[in-house]
Amino acid sequence: MKIINGLVFHEDKGFTRETLYTEGGRFSLSSSEDTILDAENCYVIPGLVDIHFHGCAGHDFSDASPDGLDAMAAYQISQGVTSICPASMTLAPETLQDICRCTSDFSRKDNIGISRLVGINLEGPFISNAKRGAQNPDYIRQADFALLGQLQECAGGLVKLVTLAPETPGALDFIRQAKQSDLRDISISIGHTQSDYDTAMEAFGCGADHVTHLFNAMPAFTHRAPGVIGAAFDSPGCFVEIICDGIHIDPSVIRAAFAMFGNKRIVLISDSMRATGLSDGSYTLGGLNVQVNGSLATLEDGTLAGSVTTLLDCMRRAVSMGIPLESAVQCATINPARSIHIDSNYGSLEVGKAADFVLLDKDLRLIGVYKDGKLVTRH
Ligand SMILES: [Zn+2]
Repeated sequence: MKIINGLVFHEDKGFTRETLYTEGGRFSLSSSEDTILDAENCYVIPGLVDIHFHGCAGHDFSDASPDGLDAMAAYQISQGVTSICPASMTLAPETLQDICRCTSDFSRKDNIGISRLVGINLEGPFISNAKRGAQNPDYIRQADFALLGQLQECAGGLVKLVTLAPETPGALDFIRQAKQSDLRDISISIGHTQSDYDTAMEAFGCGADHVTHLFNAMPAFTHRAPGVIGAAFDSPGCFVEIICDGIHIDPSVIRAAFAMFGNKRIVLISDSMRATGLSDGSYTLGGLNVQVNGSLATLEDGTLAGSVTTLLDCMRRAVSMGIPLESAVQCATINPARSIHIDSNYGSLEVGKAADFVLLDKDLRLIGVYKDGKLVTRH
């Protein structure tokens, strides 16, 4: 395929008018294929990569259902997300094993026309009860390296991320052990935590390199207690997730976070739950009841319970808050891909990578979604 006249995104040079080529499902230097795609008046950006969402379209990743995974992957690609790394909740080890097995089986099936499953994000169970947010307290456990190994085995190597509260007993040893083992490629993310600055710095020193939804479910960044947020700022190798749904974080804090962390370290996430794409009403998340009203999803006590937004909406919202489009695109594509080590194949429009791309009009409305060089959705 030859993609002409579009404003094409590259991390190093932003948007430039250039011709892209795909051959056999990958970006290439030229193409023997006849198809020409005229992207006049469109932005051409990489397919989005959502590394932290729980559900959408009526399904939850924690249901461990192949049909649910199929429906979520279909919904996500219709919204411009070509690669997904869904997140489990804090649940019993047997339930997590079921989720991992189901996902591993699913990943071996044909994924034509739906988002590509690139990993599993274990959001817990090794978290702090005091900062559990919408996680079920019954299943919170101390850091357990053997359990991580079992889950990775069930997942056939798909686990890419695990959230950990570094101040909990055994957490720092867990990180050290993981980083010296054959599980070293799993990114360890600090989150759902009461950690202070020093403990978080120790965790980053041991090899943690990610932060689960920065600002949410952790102590605030204050002038004498910088906490995880200050430690993340002082640890240049770590990525920080941000839920940019207009609810979880104030726009002023979004702008401050981009000023602090720059556009190479922020990973936009949706953190979406099963009601995403559906109407208001009562739903569940990790076995807890959630009420959805407009863009607000809350537990019965008012605690925020994930979002009902898509990653593309988060990207657009960042732009509406004053973040440059180039930065927002980078934080929804190559940064998440890099943070889970899949960037050699996905996350940008470079020659050799999978030809996953999205066309947006000048108002950032979705025009088309392409995966492996093939049209999936045309709006
Ligand atoms: Zn989450």
